[in-house]
Amino acid sequence: MAQERSARQPRPRLTQPLRQAWGQVVRTARRTTAEGLVVGTSGNVSARVGDTVLVTPSGVPYDRLGPRDAVAVDLDGEQVLGTLTPTSELPMHLAVYRATDARAIVHTHAVHATAVSTLVDELPAIHYMTGALGGPVRVAEYALYGTDALAERMLEALRDRSGCLLRNHGTVVHGATLDQAYDRTAQLEWMCQVWLAASGVPGRTPALIPPDELARAADKLRGYGQPG
Ligand code: 13P
Ligand code: ZN
Repeated sequence: MAQERSARQPRPRLTQPLRQAWGQVVRTARRTTAEGLVVGTSGNVSARVGDTVLVTPSGVPYDRLGPRDAVAVDLDGEQVLGTLTPTSELPMHLAVYRATDARAIVHTHAVHATAVSTLVDELPAIHYMTGALGGPVRVAEYALYGTDALAERMLEALRDRSGCLLRNHGTVVHGATLDQAYDRTAQLEWMCQVWLAASGVPGRTPALIPPDELARAADKLRGYGQPG
């Protein structure tokens, strides 16, 4: 007889696809600290498998996470796996999965991106890799971390983009895979660093890429790399 699921005892079934995705979530979260995109337990990572979302737990150092620590929720945010409390930014992650076909999300507090989020409403098109994020990256208005208000503002800033900045907070980037979401995050942080370097030169204003050229770059990037 099927047992009713209690909120206190999430269903403990870690299937092979979920186990594999959890391993990727943990590896990606560890990269964010190892490669300097976050400090300590800041930031969070998630991956969607069907209608299940694997998320990093709140406030747990990523190097302490093992295969038995998997945390998953459904698209309504109900915990379906694990006993650790999910990331406080669950509203942001779920909002992206409900609104887009994203399969992975990386949220960081990367230094240059966070600095830029305090200076402009949109990262100027300083480099053609802007095209890899769907166009000039917007800054979502500030809201308290972990709130529905922040998720709403983030979703507005993400329209037709795969990433945005969160004012006085950091980055949110999604992709078809964790590697893609991570790579776009690193590219975004790098572009923020380039813009800060160029715009900080006294008496000079950086040249920007015009919209038609940006569209050409975005188009060409879709065929970038090896065939297939
Ligand atoms: P969590 O540890 O709850 O994921 O929070 C980190 C964070 O970056 C909040 O914005
Ligand atoms: Zn954060």
